[in-house]
This record gives sequence, structure tokens and C-alpha cells, in this order.
Amino acid sequence: MSEEVRVRIAPSPSGNLHVGTARTALFNYLYAKKVGGKFVLRIEDTDAERTSQAYIDNIFDSLKALGLNWDEGPDVGGPYGPYTQSERFDIYPKYVQELLDKGFAYECYCTPEELEAEKEEATKNKKAYVYSKKCENLTEEEKAKLRAEGRKPAIRFSIDKARKAFHDSPVIHFEDLVKGDLHQDTSLIGDFVIMKSNGSPTYNFAVVIDDMLMKISHIIRGEDHISNTFKQILIYEALGAEVPRFGHLGMILAPDRSKLSKRHGATAVSEFVEKGYLTEALINFVALLGWAPSDGVEIKNVDEIAQDFRIHEVSSSNSVFEYDKLNWMNGQYIKKLSTEELKERLKPFLTKYDLSELNDEQYTRMVEVTREPLTILSDITDAVPYFFGKDVVVDDEVQTTVLDTETSQEVLKAFVEQAKDWEWTEENLHEKLEVFRGEFKEKGIKPKVTMWAIRGAVTGRTRGADMTAVLAILGKDKVLNRAKKAIK
Ligand code: GLU
Repeated sequence: MSEEVRVRIAPSPSGNLHVGTARTALFNYLYAKKVGGKFVLRIEDTDAERTSQAYIDNIFDSLKALGLNWDEGPDVGGPYGPYTQSERFDIYPKYVQELLDKGFAYECYCTPEELEAEKEEATKNKKAYVYSKKCENLTEEEKAKLRAEGRKPAIRFSIDKARKAFHDSPVIHFEDLVKGDLHQDTSLIGDFVIMKSNGSPTYNFAVVIDDMLMKISHIIRGEDHISNTFKQILIYEALGAEVPRFGHLGMILAPDRSKLSKRHGATAVSEFVEKGYLTEALINFVALLGWAPSDGVEIKNVDEIAQDFRIHEVSSSNSVFEYDKLNWMNGQYIKKLSTEELKERLKPFLTKYDLSELNDEQYTRMVEVTREPLTILSDITDAVPYFFGKDVVVDDEVQTTVLDTETSQEVLKAFVEQAKDWEWTEENLHEKLEVFRGEFKEKGIKPKVTMWAIRGAVTGRTRGADMTAVLAILGKDKVLNRAKKAIK
């Protein structure tokens, strides 16, 4: 085993960075961080049709936003690059040849139709499909004949030959960092293609060559890769390479225990960010999908998590992505932000308003009095419309049940009459409103009813931020204008 701990995240850019990949990246990162190892990013873009530059950019941006900065990768380089598979195509043939020379691989001339027929036959007999090995023992003459027909061979890995060379039993084992002993009957693994007839390597092959050349010591990834791991171990052995340690993480399920997908809500890191989740909350939440802090304190930053992280303590079972818990956690993180920080972070969610209507002091105060109930940053959008514009949109219900009442009309008339002479500071407004409510109380009108009338007229709503602060922020002109408009 190479001395240095080197881990990697190897996303395929066929979509935006998924939270599941973010968790895998995090666990690799934590594992490396703990022992001063290296965290490598490799882009696995051999499937050109599904790859796009926008997805690659999204992966970079999302990992960076989460604080998962890589030590080596496509943009920063490193000693074992290039780190993008499509730039490595000339590296793979040499290793294919090595396997052919050693007798661990062979040319396969089967056409897609022939293979399809084999698969159909297996389905008909209710058997799991395993390639027939029809091409394993072709003579040079037979191959020449097939080539003369215009066929181009794919290269297949010979499971049985590799297995027999390195293992006594058809059942092979490895010690998983998370799940302990795992084994597989290799007779159930078909001889799989390592290089397609067009010369492009397949995932199981390219990943081994890259991990080998990039000196990856530990591979932590989702348990959906366990069946691949057995294939990959045999390739390492066939190449005479050191087999890295593997750790497989349980899957992330939706609250309904099905695979987490779009229909449950956001799944890509960037979607969460667009919805107003903080990346520091998201990464903390994602860490808890399979890992638990030893002191039971769940709110922790990545450095604190790294101190406490032990891969063998990661749960081997599936975790449920509880959106409610993420919301709670995000709310906790918002509460921890300073007002200055929050002012900045809220700006992308206030673009429908003209922020220049508020000076810095007013904007600060608005954030102070509206931040309490925020669980996601985008909650601000619907919480503040009445801070902007000359007029206000009044809810129909507020109009009929609050503003149209005789009491409200009476309150508003008195308010306009008195308030025009008030000194418009928050402190003074607080005192004046106290007195104002008192006067109406003597006439038998409850203080909250008095305030509803003012709030309804000024904000169009019956609930919202501290009323005195709202009046102060809006300023006398806007407040009186709105109050007058509400008077019939
Ligand atoms: N590109 C593969 C994926 O995204 C990587 C799997 C692995 O970690 O080996 O699933």
C-alpha cells in the first residue's frame, strides 16, 4: 500500500452536482483531511453524449461553494494528470494490450444483434445474463475472417482467467472500510467489455487505470458500485497493481424511502443554493447522512467534522434525506449569520424589489426585523414586499375583514390626523403608538384591533415584522399616504 493517503471524487458530468455526490466527495475529503492526505478531482467524461461543459462548470462551482477544494484536478493540475478522462484516451490502449498479452483479455467480435439475442435468450430462461464467452477462444484465422467481414473487435476482460490466477475460490472477498467483509461469486460476473470497438475505454477499466496511475489509496463511493469493485479488483490484480482500499456508503433515500429524485424536491447542490439554502448548512446536513458526531452536537463546520470523522463509524445502511431537518438546520445557520453577512446573502432574493429605495440603515433595520422566521433565504422575498413602492397591495381578506370595518376607518382617520405631527424615529413612534392605542382602549377598542387597522393599511397584511420598525423604515410620507388611501 502506498504510504500517502490519496482519495478522489470522480463525477461524471452528465448532470449538475448531486447532493449524493457531494456527500461522497465530503467523506473522501474528510478522510484525506484527517491524515493530511490528498483529495483529487477527476472528471469521468468518457460518455461524450451525456457530458456537457455546463455540468463540468456546475461540478466545479458546487464543490468550491461547499468548501470541498481539491488538491489535484482538471483546473489546478497535479503530478498525475490530465485529470479529465477524455484527455487521457491515449493512455488506456497500452494497458489493454498488457491484459491481452497476459491472456486476461480477448477480442470480441460479437455484433450488437448477437449480444441482444443472447440477452433475450437469458430473459426467456429467466436467467441473469452473462456473456457466453463465444469469442474467448477464437483462432487467429477465425479472427482474420471476422475482420475481413468488416467487424471491429471490442476487448473483453476474462473474469475466470484472472480469478484463477489470483484466487483459490470462485468467491472473492475484500474488506470494505465501511461494510466489513464483502464477497462475490465471480461465476456470476460476465466477461465485460473494457474497450469498445471504437477504442473508447469503459468505466470499469478507465477507472482502474486512472486510480492506479493517480496512486489513489482509498476509494470511498456509493454502494451501487460494490458489484463494480469485484471487477475492478480483478483488473488491478491482472495488471500486477496494488489494490486500493474500498469503502462503500449506503444510499441516500427520499423520505418515502424511494431513490431520491427530482420529484421529492431539489437534488442538485446548485438547486438548493438557488432556493436559498446556505452551503455551510447543506454540507453539515449531508455529513449527517451516514455519520454521527461523537458528542451528539449536530451543528458543526467541516473542520470540526473532520476532527471527529472516522470512516469505519460511517453507517453501512441507507440514510433518509429529511428535507424538514435540512430546513431546520438551514434556519439555525441563518440565525448564526451576522446582520451584515445576511444583508449580502439576501440580496439575490430581493432582486424583484428596488433596493435603492432603502438606505443602508433602513435595509439593515429591515433585515433585523424580518430575519427571525427565515428558514431559507428565499423566504425573504414574500416577507418584505410592503417595504417597497409607494403603495401597497392589500390582501382581499385584509380589505374586507380589517380595513372596511367602521372601527378601522375611525382608527385610520385618527392616525393620519395625529401622526402627521409625530417625530418619525422608531423610539418616538413606539411611545406615540402606545398612547394612541391607549386612547382607543378607553373607547373599548382592543389594542390589537387598533394595530391591525394600521398594519393592514400600511402593509396590506395582518401579520409581519415589528410595526414600529416598519413605520420608521417606510418613513412618514409613505405611511401617511398608505393610511389615507385606506380611508374611504
Ligand atoms: N464516474 C463514476 C460515477 O459518477 C465514479 C464512480 C467511482 O467512484 O468509481 O458514478
